Amino acid sequence: MAFTEEEVKSEVIWAMKALYNKGLMTGVGGNASARLPNSEEIWITPSGLYKPRLTEEDLVKIDLEGNVIEGVLKPSMEWHFHTEIYKRRSDVNAVVHAHSPYSTGLAIAGVEIRPITLEAALMLAKVPVVPFKYPGTKELAEEVGERIMGTRLLILQNHGVIGVGYEMIEAVTAVEILEEVSMMTFIAKMMGRLIEIPPEEIEVIKKLYRI
Ligand code: 13P
Ligand code: ZN
Repeated sequence: MAFTEEEVKSEVIWAMKALYNKGLMTGVGGNASARLPNSEEIWITPSGLYKPRLTEEDLVKIDLEGNVIEGVLKPSMEWHFHTEIYKRRSDVNAVVHAHSPYSTGLAIAGVEIRPITLEAALMLAKVPVVPFKYPGTKELAEEVGERIMGTRLLILQNHGVIGVGYEMIEAVTAVEILEEVSMMTFIAKMMGRLIEIPPEEIEVIKKLYRI
């Protein structure tokens, strides 16, 4: 968990490297932001730069209206949905956006994620899909805002995914798990069969984890 501004910044840098190294975004795709709990200002990645090579000096501090407070570069074009999420979710201190190929690809194919693993049953039972809106727009942010309550993940139709968390590691892990389950789903579908966890076991899982 980040307790200082310096730690918040290093978490953002780490997230971009982690998502890039996992193949969940190209160098220039994706973005991340984070804040200290209860803060009205966030640190966000700059727009258009090669994200896995960013340093703390490249990050931009903005308020929840998008005004630049610190930094010289232009904030991510997706600052609208980042700030929209922080406005609505006081429990969220980290937001990541990636272009995860399998997660996004399944949504493009109209395939929904079924409970095929414990993680899928727990986290991904209902990943809302945000209808396509042009990247970087207020319209996209509004659609995101309407669906972000009560979820750790969103899929952006024909675009990518968003993961959120109390801290950065949660946001990144959510995106990783979604991609893993999506890959498994893809493989099963390609093999022509998809065996789900039996419904009675799902009930046990739900009771155990109180969901
Ligand atoms: P930025 O480089 O402006 O963050 O844009 C990347 C992206 O993924 C837009 O959706
Ligand atoms: Zn994007």
